[in-house]
Amino acid sequence: MRWGLIGASTIAEQHMIGAIRATGGEVAAVVSTTKARARDFAARHGIPTHGATLALILDDPSIRAVYISSTNEKHHAQALSAIAAGKHVLCEKPLAMTLDEATEMVAAAEAAGVIFATNHHLRCSGSHRAVRDLIAQGRIGRVLSLRLFHAVHLPGNLQGWRINDAGAGGGVIPDITVHDADVARFLLGEDPVAVVAQMTASGMGQGVEDSVMSVWSMPSGAMVFGHESFTHPFAGSGLEVHGTHGSIFARGVMTQQPKGEIELVTATGREAVSFPTHNLYAQGVQDFLSAVAGQGAPAATGRDGIASLAVALAVREAARTGIRQTVDYRRTA
Ligand code: NDP
Repeated sequence: MRWGLIGASTIAEQHMIGAIRATGGEVAAVVSTTKARARDFAARHGIPTHGATLALILDDPSIRAVYISSTNEKHHAQALSAIAAGKHVLCEKPLAMTLDEATEMVAAAEAAGVIFATNHHLRCSGSHRAVRDLIAQGRIGRVLSLRLFHAVHLPGNLQGWRINDAGAGGGVIPDITVHDADVARFLLGEDPVAVVAQMTASGMGQGVEDSVMSVWSMPSGAMVFGHESFTHPFAGSGLEVHGTHGSIFARGVMTQQPKGEIELVTATGREAVSFPTHNLYAQGVQDFLSAVAGQGAPAATGRDGIASLAVALAVREAARTGIRQTVDYRRTA
């Protein structure tokens, strides 16, 4: 597969170029809004074609897939252009700034018959897949609650638009809560119905929230607690799933790396649970390629991306208003 990169981004640099190459793909071109950035980025990564116009990628029929990792407000227009050019699209989360935009992107891909995937990497990890399997096998009985610990410290090199530019999609809710929404949906196999939340801006940035806590109610009656932050250097990450017959403790698993520990606790005792340690992003690309080849769906579809955005937007609205919000899934039906 020949890929075009839309966005000369950190995530492309640190994870996705390697993931594309690890799955036998070729990174054929990179497009940035700035010619010089595209040139430097291409030189650093051995990418043959670079520039500042999307046409570089869209007019090349040998490039069949694009990976979009620009800032969030650009995803919508870039995805629509790529879909119109017949490209398969792997798009970063959050898919867009609004539910209308995200819905339009996914509907356009469906109408064009191209694959559209959301880059929710956590559901590609061996650890999350192992936790989901334990739940599905009934090892903890009926799920009562899920607690998501995803309060991290944003590295200095990423303390730009994420913490000071609401217009570019900054804020911890579109950045991390959107991932946690996908994790909850993936692990529990159901969609949050309603949320309450509080958020704060503790001074790391300007104009957007840098920490949030929220509680979600699920159709089964299970409750989900999410804590996301940019400002916690030593909190560590993890998740806990508690059921009527057991609990799962997964520590250090809300990360980009295939690491962490899982422990299952039941009446028979404590059990360490092993899991595969493949590269999360390469798995996501592999699942995308399989979908393009007609074998199954991407790890996270466009509809998964709409749903995670719907939850994140509801959390922000609940925090802004102090009022419990019903999550709006009307457009994902
Ligand atoms: P970056 O800030 O690194 O990149 C986003 C855009 O900002 C780039 O496309 C680039 O624009 C511009 N940019 C980057 N570095 C510089 C610089 N030094 N000077 C000027 N402009 C710069 O963001 P991320 O890579 O962290 O995030 C990109 C997208 O990926 C977001 O949508 C984010 O939510 C998502 N993401 C997803 C992750 C996941 O695990 N799924 C993890 C991290 C991010 P241009 O291309 O126009 O040059």
